[in-house]
Amino acid sequence: MLALLLVAALLAPPQDSAVLLVRVLDVSSARIGGDAILVTDSGPGRARHVLIDASDRGDAVVALLRRFRVDTLAAVILSHPHADHYGGLPDVLRRFPVRAFAYGGTPRAAASYRALLRDLASRNIPVVTVDTGVRRLTLGAGPDSVTLVLFAPRPSCHSLPGAAPGDAVNNCSVGVRIERHGFAMLLPGDAQEAEQGWWMMVHPALLRADVLKAGHHGSSNGTNPALLDVVRPQAVVISANGRQHPFAGVLALLAARGIPTYCTADAGTITVRVPRAGGWTISTERAAVCHARTMR
Ligand SMILES: [Zn+2]
Repeated sequence: MLALLLVAALLAPPQDSAVLLVRVLDVSSARIGGDAILVTDSGPGRARHVLIDASDRGDAVVALLRRFRVDTLAAVILSHPHADHYGGLPDVLRRFPVRAFAYGGTPRAAASYRALLRDLASRNIPVVTVDTGVRRLTLGAGPDSVTLVLFAPRPSCHSLPGAAPGDAVNNCSVGVRIERHGFAMLLPGDAQEAEQGWWMMVHPALLRADVLKAGHHGSSNGTNPALLDVVRPQAVVISANGRQHPFAGVLALLAARGIPTYCTADAGTITVRVPRAGGWTISTERAAVCHARTMR
């Protein structure tokens, strides 16, 4: 038995000694792409995991979570009720215990979305509705702890009409700021200028970040000079499906500012690593530059 355990230990990949890992998962193979971001705190003791969105392809996300040795999700956060963000969640809920679910509470009539909310209720998963102000989710304790700051969409999202267009739903995204010591990463969901402008008024300090996950998959309505002036990112990660995203104008804007940019459709899963000793790095599955898929 001991020999078997030793062999198993040798075959298993070593646990990453970093305190915080943010993996922007490559879900570019999904039908409509989307976002899926795995946050792992691998500080002292057991690794804790939080999933932000699950694209529309649950099987791809489940396979990646298994590859990264996820056993339980301390929380799942849904940025906004579009299928390229929640469509994969039913598969995730079937395969992994989920301790809490946070979302903006924006009402939507889509049958698949209503089924997701029923699924969460039937599993007795505690739901946190981030519809006002700011909520904090802390992983671990003490100086190594990681905090996810969730900030609400605008109050008008509480009563968004069922027939509201896609842009209006994007503008009801929950923002997430991942913090550890001096490091911060901003994930604005698919928020466009309208919601970003509101956040700039009510939460300007929360927008400042070392790494920005570009809003709305690198569309021109998700990244603009005003946002970059507030965030002042040193790197940008784009979760894009490689068909219509990212946009050439966004890549040109980032290049003109000399901001290193990484795209899942080209480089695969992108990992932001924040070690205990300080500093942070970004690595990708493949070495590749970002290619625009929409020429404006
Ligand atoms: Zn989206």
